[in-house]
Amino acid sequence: MLVSIKEMLGRAKAEGYGVPAVSAGNEVTLRAAIEEAEKASSPIIILVGYYFTDAVNYYCRLIEDFAKAASVPVTAMWDHSGNFKQSVRGIRAGFPSIMVDRSSLPYAENVAQVAEMVRFAHAVDIDVEAEIGHVGGADEDMGPNSENALTVPAEAVSFVKETDCDCLAVAIGTAHGAYKGVPEIRFDLLKELAEKVPVPLVLHGGSGTGDENISKACRMGITKVNVANELMQASYDALAEYGIEGNRAYQFWPVLEKGFRKHVAHLFEVTGCAGKAWQAKQCLTAKLMK
Ligand SMILES: [Zn+2]
Repeated sequence: MLVSIKEMLGRAKAEGYGVPAVSAGNEVTLRAAIEEAEKASSPIIILVGYYFTDAVNYYCRLIEDFAKAASVPVTAMWDHSGNFKQSVRGIRAGFPSIMVDRSSLPYAENVAQVAEMVRFAHAVDIDVEAEIGHVGGADEDMGPNSENALTVPAEAVSFVKETDCDCLAVAIGTAHGAYKGVPEIRFDLLKELAEKVPVPLVLHGGSGTGDENISKACRMGITKVNVANELMQASYDALAEYGIEGNRAYQFWPVLEKGFRKHVAHLFEVTGCAGKAWQAKQCLTAKLMK
């Protein structure tokens, strides 16, 4: 079933678990992710990056069809839209939620731009994730805004109040992409944020953060864990292990999918959402998207 992210993360917050938000930008990984969620009786979030091609309107329909047919709660998010045009693309495509990422801007400008998009999005029942502090890249290859800035709890509280965002990505020591070392997660900061911030908290840069760190973070108030790099690595590793040469090349997609599935299944256990699927009505956006 297709549900809103607000409902999904609200439940996760109340019950103290996280939901994996997996990067799945094609039919193979989309189907694999949802079928693994069904096997684990788990909710799941499908992430699609703002840089997706012009086929995004079509792809959003595909997600909608798969989500509606699924026996478990599924939702999708247009990830990391970084300016007005990128955010509107996600709304137009019909995503039930969008991330409005203005976290590299100064506080006042971040507030102003997020509040503006929240007004547009909420008018058509689309939920918004925003970010305060900045989760950067794990290395310099991740772009010009790769610098990390830890979230300041007082700013997070006022930010939510001023923007009316539905969930909040926080910077507590993770980074996007593959780490060179082991990240140091600021659990003291997470504890304070979980106590003070009224909306569900989101962790970006879930790849390479470590199972124990992720599990602990989810128990302490992280409700959504974004994972991309690890899934691609798992897919690649499966291919490398199998050995694609000669007629074995015909097995390229099945083997890639096997590696992807194995890691998605693992994420439900790590975040604590295995068995947490519930029966619900489809969200209003399901009607809007027709
Ligand atoms: Zn991210």
